[in-house]
Amino acid sequence: MKVRKVIVILILCCYFNGFSQGNANSNPLYPANYFNNPLEIPLVLSGTFGELRSNHFHSGLDIKTEGREGLNVVASAAGYVSRIKIAHWGYGKAIYITHPNGYTSVYAHLKKFNKRIEAYIKKQQYAKESFEIQLFPSATTLPISENEIIALSGNSGGSGGPHLHFEIRDTKTEKPINPMLFGININDSKKPRINTLIGYSLSEEAHINKISKPTQISLVQLENGDLISKNIDAFGKIGFGINAYDQLDGAYNKNGLYNLEMKVNGEKMHEFNASSFSFSESKYINLLIDYERFANLKQRIQKCFVEPSNKLSLYKKSNENGYINIEDGLNYNVEIIAKDFKGNSQRITIPISGKKDSILVKDTETITPYEINRDTFNKFSLNGITVAFPKNTFYNDFYLDFEVKDSIAKVHSPTVPLHKNYTLTFDVSNYSEIEKKQLYIASINEKGRSQYETTVKKDLSFYTSTKKLGKFTLISDNVKPKIKLLNFKNEQWLTNSNSLKVKISDNESGIKSYRGEIDGAWILMEYEPKKNMLVYDLNDKTFSTAKHNLKVTVTDNVGNVATINTTFFRKK
Ligand SMILES: [Zn+2]
Repeated sequence: MKVRKVIVILILCCYFNGFSQGNANSNPLYPANYFNNPLEIPLVLSGTFGELRSNHFHSGLDIKTEGREGLNVVASAAGYVSRIKIAHWGYGKAIYITHPNGYTSVYAHLKKFNKRIEAYIKKQQYAKESFEIQLFPSATTLPISENEIIALSGNSGGSGGPHLHFEIRDTKTEKPINPMLFGININDSKKPRINTLIGYSLSEEAHINKISKPTQISLVQLENGDLISKNIDAFGKIGFGINAYDQLDGAYNKNGLYNLEMKVNGEKMHEFNASSFSFSESKYINLLIDYERFANLKQRIQKCFVEPSNKLSLYKKSNENGYINIEDGLNYNVEIIAKDFKGNSQRITIPISGKKDSILVKDTETITPYEINRDTFNKFSLNGITVAFPKNTFYNDFYLDFEVKDSIAKVHSPTVPLHKNYTLTFDVSNYSEIEKKQLYIASINEKGRSQYETTVKKDLSFYTSTKKLGKFTLISDNVKPKIKLLNFKNEQWLTNSNSLKVKISDNESGIKSYRGEIDGAWILMEYEPKKNMLVYDLNDKTFSTAKHNLKVTVTDNVGNVATINTTFFRKK
């Protein structure tokens, strides 16, 4: 009998392959072998912790779900449901489980919850007449046992394909922590790869090979896989940045680095470590990367120096914050080491000769009448359009490129990061009341496509609060949203159907709200904006009579309303 028990345990270990398998990577700060694999299949990742994303760092692991939805999601450890959030975007359908050891696990982009949780949520959704909802159940409302199936995996919210987003947070501070620090094992035999090295001249007289604007430095690969640059001549305060990615075993996805270090003459001068951060620091990713290069080329360069206004805690304390002062006549050896969680690494060596020289290629700044002084409030007006930037909206002083041509305002270009929102105001005193009703503020992207910006309407002016830079204008929307029945027709018997599906869309200002009613009472229609679809679960209700009216109302962002009324038959 004893032998059989051992075999069962061995099988279980293989089953939960990836989690709790040995303590090789566990960190003394965090309990090992506590959290189990939240899926019943071996762990393969498409995203790592701390990975650089648009305007944020990735706060968990993205676990592959075999390219499909509907896999069982199990509680990673026992605890209770402390939070449920359902949103059209972001985490979509998400559940938070608080554990007695001071940590909370988070499961996001779900398809649906288990019966008990689903019933609890629906009751609240019907009470609030809203699909989007946020709930904070008490510790005794929804207790969860270890490995209990809590949900089915999905693709809800801002997810670009089926997967499970899994997070571990410190319950008190809500800081997400790299789940791998809890001893989670992910096979990774591949080295990170560094693609691009950029040099930055950061003081008045500084240059790299006589160039003072950011310059790409070519690299040669050595036999052991490491990289070396040609000897460069430089002077003054300089810094470096790289583009790199890591691949794990079993997947082609390009993931983030765990650790990035820079040494100068053997001394550590910079270190980034993807261990834990606070959500309030997310915006500093725009200082960690070369924001202008990302805006222009969509390539993320991770800088190995830290500007004084960058308060990110993913950096470890280091000398001079990664700025290197090159003196005339001295030699330097710079090493940049990119590591994954397993310690696989790739290294760049950059030999530098200090040489004071005249600069041949300069980074020139265009001077405009609109000088931004980051320490003060800055406000400029032109042809009835006003921009107002609160103190510390920007990280640096610069000259704003502000123009108004053919009623289109150009508020610089999206090459400068903002720390706060600013206000953009349009004078609308020349428009009639009817015109004003249909007007909204739109941003226009590089391809000329317009997008609704939340427009606040006052009598004589409209304004929006935004972090976007670029082109803006006023656009009129007098077209109603569209509503189309998808899986049923008017006057149809629906005894054997499980759902009602309706397509809704609006090509102009976009959908602001929707409402579904059956026989005059609100019904829960789940909205999936990626599919422009509303879905009603016919099993939500018992129908005692046969003939029913479904009414769907959709309102766009300027208040145009579309309504559809249909009759269906169902008795059960
Ligand atoms: Zn994710």
